[in-house]
Amino acid sequence: MSAQPDAYAEALERARTHAMAWLASIPSRPVGPRKRAEELLAGFGAPLPDGPTDPADVVDELAALADPGLMAMPSGRFFGWVIGGTLPAALAADWLVSAWDQNAGMRYATPAMAAAEEAAGAWLLDLLGLPAGSDVGFTTGATMANFVGLAAGRQQVLGRIGWDLAAVGLSGAPRIRVFVGAERHDVIDLTLRYLGLGGPIVVDVDDQGRLRPDALAAAMDEPGISGSPAIVCLQLGNLHSGAFDPMAESIRVAHDRGAWVHVDGAFGLWAAASPEYREALAGVELADSWATDAHKTLNVPYDCGMAIVADPDAVRPAFGVHTSYLFQDDPGPGDAFEKVPELSRRARGVTVWAALRSLGRSGTVQLVERLAANARALADGIALIAGAEVLNEVVFTQVSVSFGDDETTRRVTAALIADGAAWMSGSRWHDREILRILVSNWSTDADDVSQSLAAIERAVTTAT
Ligand SMILES: *Cc1c(COP(=O)(O)O)cnc(C)c1O
Repeated sequence: MSAQPDAYAEALERARTHAMAWLASIPSRPVGPRKRAEELLAGFGAPLPDGPTDPADVVDELAALADPGLMAMPSGRFFGWVIGGTLPAALAADWLVSAWDQNAGMRYATPAMAAAEEAAGAWLLDLLGLPAGSDVGFTTGATMANFVGLAAGRQQVLGRIGWDLAAVGLSGAPRIRVFVGAERHDVIDLTLRYLGLGGPIVVDVDDQGRLRPDALAAAMDEPGISGSPAIVCLQLGNLHSGAFDPMAESIRVAHDRGAWVHVDGAFGLWAAASPEYREALAGVELADSWATDAHKTLNVPYDCGMAIVADPDAVRPAFGVHTSYLFQDDPGPGDAFEKVPELSRRARGVTVWAALRSLGRSGTVQLVERLAANARALADGIALIAGAEVLNEVVFTQVSVSFGDDETTRRVTAALIADGAAWMSGSRWHDREILRILVSNWSTDADDVSQSLAAIERAVTTAT
């Protein structure tokens, strides 16, 4: 017997009620969690009951246990890491994705998911000015999207010298040299580990953390290195400054030397949607693969990243599977499972469709521009606070602030987090302790900005 709708009704009603209560609490609750995981475990970790519990009661209990340990990440005053909120259409679409329970790997089996994700992918390419017809795969995040782009690159650069990676593997293969900027995201090194490519060759950056194309050329031309199969990994959106690696020139240097070019644009690739950034990002479309996140700048729920590869024939040999029980839609746009590491997969791309459908083209551009404008407003306000110094050129959504010596900056950061009105995290940049502000939430407004500036002022008063 199939489950009757009634079996779900009460549990889903309660989930809706708790979800609405959570969202309603966000404007007034402290941004940070009130309890630590160890304390919460006492509630969650009671002995597993012997018998069943009513689903609706489970939902009530879950909501009550979780509440004191929730970080108000959807708050317009949450500026920790690069963590966006959730657009209403995307959140609602995510609920439907769970209710539909589609295994989104195959076009034949789940055509609605395939169509929605393919449409979302095409909209994305159009918005970002990337080559139409690129393969777009939906991953858990930018880590796996970087993995996909770099895996495609690995396969291609070995293929070009006649090495059949799929058949022979990496052992004994000519070493692939991977070039990265000194201020890349750490997950690039992680994905290189997954891929068995070892440590990268680190290229010098300028004072904002942008890779220097002249240094890239020099590194690639080193005797003993030049002529090796090569991958160049560029970055759009420095973790601390928001700065963009120079695209056109770096890509030209790399392509002139036969390298595959991958771009880690987890949050920064979205700048390509805005005419304001057209010049800063000129040439981005010339790369071979790109990674970005929808759960950051686009504000869809966790988890959702996108792996974009210009040449579908480059990615499918890396991830394609052919067996008798998978019904493949060949030839054509390809099945989802040929573009990402997973076979069974949630239809997470549907949230991207819903987000873009609700924003429209101009809404998406405005979202990106508003995040950057809020970052500038925060930086301008901080510059007026005695003892505070903005260390980066605020070119996108990142603001890195020092309050003097390292100890003072640490104290201000701790006071700010204890205050609770806003949430920002500490970090280290260019050998200095900093308060790092990352603007990623669609709902942040002028009031959030002024409340957050007031919170920083209070923290400075408390800590100094
Ligand atoms: C966030 C981020 C990543 C990692 O992305 P996840 O979605 O957390 O996997 C990689 N690179 C950059 C530049 C990032 O900002």
